Amino acid sequence: MGEKAARLVEEYKRYAKENRFSLNPSKKIVEGVITGLFENEKRHGEKYCPCRMVTGKKEEDKKIICPCIYHKKEIETQGHCHCRLFFR
Ligand code: SF4
Repeated sequence: MGEKAARLVEEYKRYAKENRFSLNPSKKIVEGVITGLFENEKRHGEKYCPCRMVTGKKEEDKKIICPCIYHKKEIETQGHCHCRLFFR
């Protein structure tokens, strides 16, 4: 994992801790999601969720910049966010 990716992982770990959930213990899954986020950033300019459709409409897509507007509810109801980055 590159330095930039490692920094983002640390950031998300901190974020998860602050919100009393955690990062997926699987390094492989975390790396996969992070790679997808960076790909979207390169392609679309923001770290859009790699597990959701980017519509191309800025206002709409704002909702899926990671951490998306859905993750807290998803963690609460299904135990993890859609991408399985964050876990209860
Ligand atoms: S589903 Fe998870 S990984 Fe995807 S944007 Fe939401 S919080 Fe991030």
